[in-house]
Amino acid sequence: MSGTDGRQDRERAAELAAGLTRVEERIARACDAAGRAREDVTLVVVTKTHPARDVRLLAELGVRHVAENRDQEAARKAEACADLPLNWHFVGQLQTNKVRSVVGYADFVHSVDRPRLVTALAAAARDRPRGPLNCLVQVALEKEGTARSGGAESRGGVAPEGVPEVATAIAAAHGLRLAGVMTVAPLVGAYAGRPGVAFERLIDIAKGLRRAHPAASMVSAGMSADLEEAIAAGATHVRVGSAVLGVRQSLR
Ligand SMILES: *Cc1c(COP(=O)(O)O)cnc(C)c1O
Repeated sequence: MSGTDGRQDRERAAELAAGLTRVEERIARACDAAGRAREDVTLVVVTKTHPARDVRLLAELGVRHVAENRDQEAARKAEACADLPLNWHFVGQLQTNKVRSVVGYADFVHSVDRPRLVTALAAAARDRPRGPLNCLVQVALEKEGTARSGGAESRGGVAPEGVPEVATAIAAAHGLRLAGVMTVAPLVGAYAGRPGVAFERLIDIAKGLRRAHPAASMVSAGMSADLEEAIAAGATHVRVGSAVLGVRQSLR
């Protein structure tokens, strides 16, 4: 590594360390305010659009959970970082033709939203060496009362009414483990601009799910803009990108 690379790495490491410290403080304060233990909330750092080198620096800073939302980019980074003690989360919309690739590196898929995707995931994950694939049902709260399946919609997620069907399919599949639920605060509909209300609705849905599937305890909610609301509602996993890594240059 050249001297310039070393210096750039040290500067970037300092930036990432500062970002992590700020986010850590926000999480700790939100846990405090909610009367929750800090260890009940897991920080998942969303590294999409940032290079594998950032992932490596984050791992050196103690990050153990990273997330990506596009298979091609994720597969490349996961391979470049295969030596690191990281859990890989896939949080983007997932086409069935990408499933085989995703199953090769992901420990968690947060974006399971239709039975057909469950079938494809189960077929791909059956004999994988990493063990069962943790699956979360992505809930599209903005679709409440509209559609049973989110498959044909542009934005991912299943309407709340469709959650049991997807969850049952995951729970019945060999090679898959029903881990919980995920949401992104809606930008449209009744929950627009009210992330706290949206996350409380997700918690209701999570409680309903746990009655049938007690081990499905993960609640993935909250991003850079609304992690406090998510922690107040009861999220177990917050997915934070820009508040740690800085604003993304482009979505490519
Ligand atoms: C990008 C992304 C995040 C993180 O968003 P930030 O606003 O950068 O914190 C979280 N969840 C999903 C599904 C994402 O695509």
